[in-house]
Amino acid sequence: MKLMSDIYNKSITAIKGIGATRAKLFNRLGIFTVEQLINYFPRDYEDRSHIKKIVDLEDEEKVAFEGIVNSGVQEKILRKGLTIYQIMVKDETGSILAIWYNQNYIKRIFKKGERYIFYGMISRKFNTLKVQSPVYEKGDAKKIIGIIPVYASTNGLTQNIIRASIKEALGLTVKGHEDIFPKWLKDKYNLAHINYSVHNIHFPMSDDDFKKARYRLVFEELFLLQLALLCIKNTFQKDKDGIKFDDFYQKEREFTQKIGFELTNAQKKVFDEIKKDMESKKVMNRLVQGDVGSGKTIVAFLALYKAVLNGCQGALMVPTEILARQHYESICNLMSKEDIKIALLIGSQSKKQKSEILSKLEKGEFNIVIGTHAIIQESVKFFNLGLVITDEQHRFGVRQRAVLSNKGKNPDMIVMTATPIPRTLALILYGDLDISIIDELPPGRRPIETYIVDNSMRERINNFIRKMVSSGHQVYIVCPLVEDSESVDAKSAQKLAEKIAKEDFKDLNVGLIYGKMNGKDKDGVMGKFLDGEIDILVSTTVIEVGVNVPNAVLMVVENAERFGLSQLHQLRGRVGRSSYQSYCILYNESASKVAKERMRVMEKTNDGFVIAQKDLELRGPGEFFGTRQHGIPQLKIANLYNDIDILKEAQEAAIEILKQDRDLSLQEHLLLNKRIESDFKEKLNELSLN
Ligand code: ADP
Ligand code: MG
Repeated sequence: MKLMSDIYNKSITAIKGIGATRAKLFNRLGIFTVEQLINYFPRDYEDRSHIKKIVDLEDEEKVAFEGIVNSGVQEKILRKGLTIYQIMVKDETGSILAIWYNQNYIKRIFKKGERYIFYGMISRKFNTLKVQSPVYEKGDAKKIIGIIPVYASTNGLTQNIIRASIKEALGLTVKGHEDIFPKWLKDKYNLAHINYSVHNIHFPMSDDDFKKARYRLVFEELFLLQLALLCIKNTFQKDKDGIKFDDFYQKEREFTQKIGFELTNAQKKVFDEIKKDMESKKVMNRLVQGDVGSGKTIVAFLALYKAVLNGCQGALMVPTEILARQHYESICNLMSKEDIKIALLIGSQSKKQKSEILSKLEKGEFNIVIGTHAIIQESVKFFNLGLVITDEQHRFGVRQRAVLSNKGKNPDMIVMTATPIPRTLALILYGDLDISIIDELPPGRRPIETYIVDNSMRERINNFIRKMVSSGHQVYIVCPLVEDSESVDAKSAQKLAEKIAKEDFKDLNVGLIYGKMNGKDKDGVMGKFLDGEIDILVSTTVIEVGVNVPNAVLMVVENAERFGLSQLHQLRGRVGRSSYQSYCILYNESASKVAKERMRVMEKTNDGFVIAQKDLELRGPGEFFGTRQHGIPQLKIANLYNDIDILKEAQEAAIEILKQDRDLSLQEHLLLNKRIESDFKEKLNELSLN
């Protein structure tokens, strides 16, 4: 929410109690202005609204109680560096021991006979009641009573300081929050007033008030996100009439028979859906989702073939050069008997090579182009682009896809992704796309067997690697990025590769591949791996997407706990691409419970959707790999896991608004328009959606 008064733009030092030193601490939390402070929503709440009698206190509950200090403060040195301070507190029903650790000021606080309210975690063992490090308040002020916000904090910034600062900020801006919604919309969706909501999200008067406030703010957040996305889509989907492709029934059938395998029913179903779209007048906007290894590539090739039969050009854009080269090779093989000219366009080609390709593309001498981001450079022009496909869609930004589309006249569009995304996220990202799902793996695949191991198993695992290689198979070993910087990344993978090549497996052929390697070298290594000249490929995550080497049947992941589950699932998808039994070994060096539970999910299931859902559950939406990958801005209050119902309403509302007023130019939408501009302008470029 925005505030109408000037105060919201001011530095937080305008708030009483925040000087330069404290401001620095707030800055660490990303809070610089009063507005940001007000929008710093609680991470949790403590329900201190009920005061219990001591007799009713239960083990392991966090609760408030009231009583009289019944002893002086006792000081006990338990061992060096650990001193406890304790008092006895009683009411008419019983007594309880309150304990603090190493806080000697406690000695000066409590006097026998005084009345206090306490709040803390109760423990009841052998009928002894204790409360550890409770918060407390003297007399009847009841400041610590109620529903109390808990904020994510940083060292040196106490909850009390944050609470007081936010209270102060709210006081300065009581009635000044700007309501972006037109009245009819607020009525229709029962949205609480913005001033009320902002106050009650921080300091709810009751559970009910909190719910109303949260509903309004979650709605607002999701609504704005939706609206921003829809606005972008508008900018490149204005004309609805597309190309009406003909049905070359006989030729399409013949071509399908040349593939070398029978399409699965799921592939057939999805290609039929694509065919129908292509043969209709409307522009196709279709998302093809299919778990890793489900065979999306061939479906894309069939669509490209159909476009070419119709005299149109087709483009397939992929996120990495490795993948581009691989697709290029397989499509060349597949179409070698046809009169179809196929180009590869990637960043590492020489200027001369590129300009030759570009001129032929523009003249229509190439029918199909496979490439990386190089395809969307301004210099790339087409003769008659009729179909654009992006593979591994989650790696691209929304603008990038728009740019590709705009190189043709309303070309049909397919986006393909293996990243299983939870339903909520799919609704946000692909709300207006038609979705096809390849929900079946090619026949004969055996589920990949996954094992979680630690360093103590290294020798056994190394023997297993050896066994795989000596039976004629190949192995991937993946290392995580140690830091963001590519040089560090390269070094770590390189070091490991060296160790593996020179020590562990000096008698085998070990190859290395990492992100910043130049295209030629990558190509060389990948080619050797594909040809079986390399037994063990050590890599960073560059092989995460798309790569297809069916003879590789073992994947070993170092420090698997550092990866998101969905990412691990993608990595694991590099094996299990043939009828051989495949294995995935995950080294987990973390003792953390959550890490272990996450690894267990990988052990238990091969279903990408289940994994994505679990990932979201275990790590929370903020950290969920999908959100960041998709460029969705960090959500302040909405929870992608729980707020699906609100999301649907917000989406409906956003569509309704745009139907009335496509570019938000009506007076009653002015504030909305401004908000979209200010909140999303920069971020929109990163959003990787349709
Ligand atoms: P992904 O959906 O992960 O992109 P790919 O398209 O790379 O999967 O296909 C994985 C492997 O399965 C490839 O080797 C491909 O040739 C093979 N494949 C695809 N469809 C079938 C099928 N219907 N029958 C047998 N093998 C298939
Ligand atoms: Mg693929």
